[in-house]
Amino acid sequence: MQLIDIGANLTHDSFDPDRDAVLQRARDAGIVQMVITGASREHSPKALALAQAHPGFLFATAGVHPHHALEYTDECDAEMRTLHAHPQVVAVGECGLDYFRDFSPRPAQRKAFERQLQLASENGKPLFLHQRDAHADFMAVMKNFEGRIGPAVVHCFTGTREEMFDYLDRDWHIGITGWLCDERRGLHLRELVKSIPANRLMIETDAPYLLPRTVKPKPSHHRNEPRYLAHIVEELARDRGEDVATTAAITTANAREFFRLP
Ligand SMILES: [Zn+2]
Repeated sequence: MQLIDIGANLTHDSFDPDRDAVLQRARDAGIVQMVITGASREHSPKALALAQAHPGFLFATAGVHPHHALEYTDECDAEMRTLHAHPQVVAVGECGLDYFRDFSPRPAQRKAFERQLQLASENGKPLFLHQRDAHADFMAVMKNFEGRIGPAVVHCFTGTREEMFDYLDRDWHIGITGWLCDERRGLHLRELVKSIPANRLMIETDAPYLLPRTVKPKPSHHRNEPRYLAHIVEELARDRGEDVATTAAITTANAREFFRLP
């Protein structure tokens, strides 16, 4: 089984003590490539550095998460453009809107999102998008860039059927995480994932967040890591009524094509 984790926050401090061991465990679990999420001014350069240290295995995104929207200044925009000059940076983002936590003022979130969509419209790279509790505004902002941006994935999809079909209607991809395995808040996804066309589906851990609650034996820690992608794809395959080899193969092929991985 060959898997690609399209969203791993491996620059997170919690990986500082044992990052190499985490990467080795990922390889042992069948992860053949990973896209390291860059989600702030501080961490986007770190994601690139990590990708450069593991050529062919790790790739990076560069962007500013809505939580950090206030840091998206002109200077930050210039920094993002410099990062995007590197071929190891394969997508613009993580960017989008998050009205669930509202860690940044909503107008600042929309502005930072628009500037990153502008960047993507210029460099032609795919978009790695975040949307939480902001669907209407998210769609409105995206509509302003219709026809100017390349492929897009709404990562860590946790939304409703209507939201999912809004994304699929626009030919965007859907990223599924271990949220699927959460019996408290992810049950609706078990039904919804059946409706995602094979060529629109990708998988991710969002490590160190979202440790799948169905991993057995239950780890003694709460840190998620890429090796658990093997568990997520098993759960996803069962929900879709596919054998796991099929789900693994289609999600890997989609990730390679979407991020233009070698
Ligand atoms: Zn996110």
